[in-house]
Amino acid sequence: MSAELVDYDEAVTRFDPVIGIEVHVELGTRTKMFDAAPAGFGEEPNTSVTPVSLGLPGSLPVVNGTAVEYAIRIGLALNCSIAETCRFARKNYFYPDVPKNFQTSQYDEPIAFDGHVDVELEDGTVFRVEIERAHMEEDAGKNTHVGGSTGRIHGAEYSLVDYNRAGIPLVEIVTRPITGAGERAPEVARAYVQTLRDLFRALGVSEARMERGNVRADVNVSLRATPDSPLGTRTETKNVNSFRSVERAVRHEISRQAAVLDAGGSIVQETRHWHEDTGTTTSGRVKSDAEDYRYFPEPDLVPIAPDRAWVEEIRAGLPELPAARRRRLQGEWGYADAEMRDVVNAGAVELIESTVAAGAAPAAARKWWMGELARTAKERDVELGDLPITPAQIAALQGLVDAGRINDKLARQVLEGVLAGEGDPEAVVVARGLEVVSDDGPLLEAIDAALAAQPDIADKIRSGNLGPVGAIIGAVMKATRGQADAGRVRELLLERVQG
Ligand code: ADP
Ligand code: MG
Repeated sequence: MSAELVDYDEAVTRFDPVIGIEVHVELGTRTKMFDAAPAGFGEEPNTSVTPVSLGLPGSLPVVNGTAVEYAIRIGLALNCSIAETCRFARKNYFYPDVPKNFQTSQYDEPIAFDGHVDVELEDGTVFRVEIERAHMEEDAGKNTHVGGSTGRIHGAEYSLVDYNRAGIPLVEIVTRPITGAGERAPEVARAYVQTLRDLFRALGVSEARMERGNVRADVNVSLRATPDSPLGTRTETKNVNSFRSVERAVRHEISRQAAVLDAGGSIVQETRHWHEDTGTTTSGRVKSDAEDYRYFPEPDLVPIAPDRAWVEEIRAGLPELPAARRRRLQGEWGYADAEMRDVVNAGAVELIESTVAAGAAPAAARKWWMGELARTAKERDVELGDLPITPAQIAALQGLVDAGRINDKLARQVLEGVLAGEGDPEAVVVARGLEVVSDDGPLLEAIDAALAAQPDIADKIRSGNLGPVGAIIGAVMKATRGQADAGRVRELLLERVQG
């Protein structure tokens, strides 16, 4: 029964999906949430630790002020209210990666609450997601289970634990149940996480690198018969750590839950594991709402009461946020809505911005990144930004075209050379001898040769029938390996036959 799935399109005609997303973001502070250990990445295991992050008896936590400021920034950017006063709480549980046997978190008094964020889908539809709360907490350490085939504890021979990550500041952002997305629920889920990632980067609160686990999402999914029915029972798929996986996980849960309900079964409220390879989820642990973490206020930390003037200062200092920035750039670049959307969807905003900053016209910058380069990226199955070419090189390439030193066709060959690691556009032009032939001498020679090779056509043109000039121009372009300026060839040809 566990492998049964209902076809997705069918499932969403008979059920109304509701989703809820919890996003954890690791803040990019210099030190940890409650101690002075460095909050970096990639250090030797168990070196970025202090007695506090190891939970040693007698050690006392101190709140990281920068982390509080970052949490407020996030709250404000998500249109939340910022608490006048809030507390930390102990979330008690025993697990090797939590050396204190509790996680210091916030429970009933989050620092930010009641917000919303507008999420733009790929086709330009804007979907509003309501935010229930954003609270501060600390990350756990990292367990590595060695010897098994799955990387999970079951079947492992032994486990290692690294406390470097224990105590890194986190903000957890929790949505209210997201209703009304219907069949687009998986897409909304992905776009929401993507929107948050962009926001974290713009706010400068985190590098927000998904592949490093800086941003992690838990996706809750439930089904109900109709949009008027009460909410169904949800499952919570943990640690879905790429945009694509967020979309796939929601989609899979909808198909799976539909099958369970169709078979007359009921959904158990539980956590589920996401399997990247198969695109499926499997049962984790049963989890009730009243799960007994025995939350209680943290006695070693005073409440946080962010001064209103400070909050306003932070609000005033917020940078331009991604949606506003996109609107501004679209205006500056003069792109149509659909053009801008394609640019955003292709992840090319920054690349085009840098290309324009390096001197290219916005239309030319878009043409390169969305045309030839997008095709190349697709062929090589890499992101646009990972192609071995820089915005400055694209601007230089376009500069050569604008100066008439190469034409569009040659420019594509130059691009090929740059992508092949042959150097800057200028160097490729020189090394490959790609410059447009602007000297009339060689062009006239090629024209005469082409006329001589096709006497019938030459006669027609001489008698005033300009229909077949293309054949001669084509022959000249071929003879000069595309390096002739076709307009100039035409001029010279006409002078030749008429003069
Ligand atoms: P937990 O302690 O289980 O992680 P949270 O309150 O932190 O609970 O997060 C639960 C998430 O699930 C929230 O985003 C919430 O909006 C969402 N949610 C609650 N009920 C449902 C439901 N019936 N269907 C889908 N999502 C739900
Ligand atoms: Mg939660």
